[in-house]
Amino acid sequence: MELIDILLKKINKNAVVTEIARDRDPFKVLVSTIISARTKDEVTEEVSKKLFKEVKSVDDLLNIEEEKLADLIYPAGFYRVKAKNLKKLAKILKEKYNGKVPDSLEELLKLPGVGRKTANLVITLAFDKDGICVDTHVHRICNRWEIVDTETPEETEFELRKKLPKKYWKVINNLLVVFGKEICSPKPKCNKCFEEIRKKCPYYEKIMH
Ligand code: SF4
Repeated sequence: MELIDILLKKINKNAVVTEIARDRDPFKVLVSTIISARTKDEVTEEVSKKLFKEVKSVDDLLNIEEEKLADLIYPAGFYRVKAKNLKKLAKILKEKYNGKVPDSLEELLKLPGVGRKTANLVITLAFDKDGICVDTHVHRICNRWEIVDTETPEETEFELRKKLPKKYWKVINNLLVVFGKEICSPKPKCNKCFEEIRKKCPYYEKIMH
């Protein structure tokens, strides 16, 4: 976990804080994470802002027409499927959970459109519970750093649950998302990376030899 420790010290703390400071309302975290699937972060942010002006609660989501909802969340990817899932979600939340977002991974995973990444983000960000939210950035960087050796984000999450000390669980997503967007991107900008990290990075070692 040495590289994570170095990064925690090095990375621009303001950037991490900004990411962490997102709205922690469980309903908003859940809905915006569903919207974020296969959608750029900037688009998710813009769409969520627009949506939450009109849809602020499970009841609002239940009452809005599916067609209008699809219009509101356009240009997010697969906006029609997402609108359908969000309508189903509102019905289940109202009928089964008394209009509230459940606070356990198991219950969240039963909801339409909710995968492991979303469920983990909701429990960590909205409920401050232990979880590891693995998106493509966390998956890519943990493999580059040889913390895991996995094919999919799901496998990465399961490996990290065995290997990663709990103190890193809630911070790893924000930390590696910021780092992964700016530096250790799919085409890594190793020349911009922190020297201390570059010296110890197994992936850098591989691509240089
Ligand atoms: Fe990523 Fe390159 Fe930095 Fe390694 S040296 S962490 S591959 S950017």
